[in-house]
Amino acid sequence: MEVDVRRVIVRKDYPGRKGLVVYRMSRDQRVDDNWALLFAQQLADVKNEGLAVVFTLVPHYPNANRRHFDFMIRGLKQVEKHLAAKNIPFFLLMDEQPMSAFADFIREYDVSAVVSDFDPLRHKQAWNKMIDTIDAIAHYEVDAHNIVPCHFVSRKVEFGAYTLRPKIKRLLPDFLTEFPELHPQTVQMKAHPIDWVGIKTMLSHSENVEPVNWLQSGEEAAKTVLDQFIATKLSHYDEQRNHPEADGQSHLSPYLHFGQIAAQRVALEIIRNAPPGGQEAFLEELIVRRELADNFCYYNPLYDQTGGFPEWAKKDMELHRNDVRLYLYTREELENGETHDPLWNAAQRELTVRGKMHGYLRMYWAKKLLEWTASPEEALQHAIYLNDKYSLDGRDPNGYAGIAWSIGGVHDRAWFPRPVFGKIRYMSLSGCFAKFDVDQYIREHSK
Ligand SMILES: Cc1cc2nc3c(=O)[nH]c(=O)nc-3n(C[C@H](O)[C@H](O)[C@H](O)COP(=O)(O)OP(=O)(O)OC[C@H]3O[C@@H](n4cnc5c(N)ncnc54)[C@H](O)[C@@H]3O)c2cc1C
Repeated sequence: MEVDVRRVIVRKDYPGRKGLVVYRMSRDQRVDDNWALLFAQQLADVKNEGLAVVFTLVPHYPNANRRHFDFMIRGLKQVEKHLAAKNIPFFLLMDEQPMSAFADFIREYDVSAVVSDFDPLRHKQAWNKMIDTIDAIAHYEVDAHNIVPCHFVSRKVEFGAYTLRPKIKRLLPDFLTEFPELHPQTVQMKAHPIDWVGIKTMLSHSENVEPVNWLQSGEEAAKTVLDQFIATKLSHYDEQRNHPEADGQSHLSPYLHFGQIAAQRVALEIIRNAPPGGQEAFLEELIVRRELADNFCYYNPLYDQTGGFPEWAKKDMELHRNDVRLYLYTREELENGETHDPLWNAAQRELTVRGKMHGYLRMYWAKKLLEWTASPEEALQHAIYLNDKYSLDGRDPNGYAGIAWSIGGVHDRAWFPRPVFGKIRYMSLSGCFAKFDVDQYIREHSK
């Protein structure tokens, strides 16, 4: 089965050119179920050329630290192993200027075509633009992350889930299909051995946020987590997902963020194996909400700034800029979980210690930042800083969209006005008490 051409953006064509085909793996760090890798193999087969996979590791990658590097490197070791089983060489280039190291690689190995995976974030889009400027190669971008390709499902920033949902649903029968197998390469080519120990040492400068040990990394672990979720939690997902004390979520977000599992594989397995109940609510989050976040970051260049909020929210923000705030906290107090609110402090502690905050509390947590800082700009900066620094799934379109929803009304509607928040949806501690066992959650995540 050929890769659907609607998944592919031809950034630069160069027909007839012979030479190695390279998949430049970035967002989708897996060998199984990877449309970008499958497309690269298809291209290599047509050209009758070799295929290699290259990953560029940036030691000072924006907002990444030991927690993220540790999870990623452990996953990449599995990528190397799984590629070797298919006779596909894996190169890891480590450089602060990743695209210039990659350009050197292209020249050294006489590369004819590059396949990049799709990522809506601006620095990743900038990397793709740099590759476009390299002479005498073809360059393709393949959406291996979304089930329905982001650039294809919509050509504009969507207002909300209600506008994207019907577009996705219409196209799902075309795109939610089984993956073909990656076949072993026959053309032999050797990669340099990767010095994993040396790489770890070179990354030791990264800020000291402890790695987590309650989640294993890699493609194999991702599949186990999915299987366990289907077997034990899925049927209660709908009723438990707003209960942070109940651990009813899948914990798939770190794997999805690092591309260690395809959302499409998750959806296929859920549909195939799901017990009654839970399926619909879960697929709404996994497909519609997740793909909406990519749409937001791809088409809204101000996805991490207040300028990216909807017009009604921006106007409202000005109206309430000088409202009196009852509490004001510094970044340090917030980071240390030293507010007057024990629920917020416990949520912050879940984030810093476990590297993943419960989804329901993420909304409460971000909204309180709006309430307890001097301006929406400051609230947004603190939210992004803390989320990206501590969350294993941080630095992700879901994070920028989730924060913009909480603080700036993105993908939401206007609510009844109130001080500081204006028409942004409000969440209160008493509301949390009415929804779930707040005390139990605090006990679980207190010092
Ligand atoms: C302020 C705030 C910050 C957030 N930051 C991040 C982040 O940095 N990274 C991240 O992946 N998600 C983020 N989210 C979205 C959501 O909270 C997480 O995806 C979810 O909690 C991850 O845990 P899970 O995989 O166990 O979720 P489950 O409930 O098991 O959901 C399964 C998958 O569905 C998707 N999903 C679920 N909820 C959402 C949502 N609201 N928006 C988009 N996709 C969703 C995710 O891919 C998730 O892995 C944020 C939400 C808010 C409100």
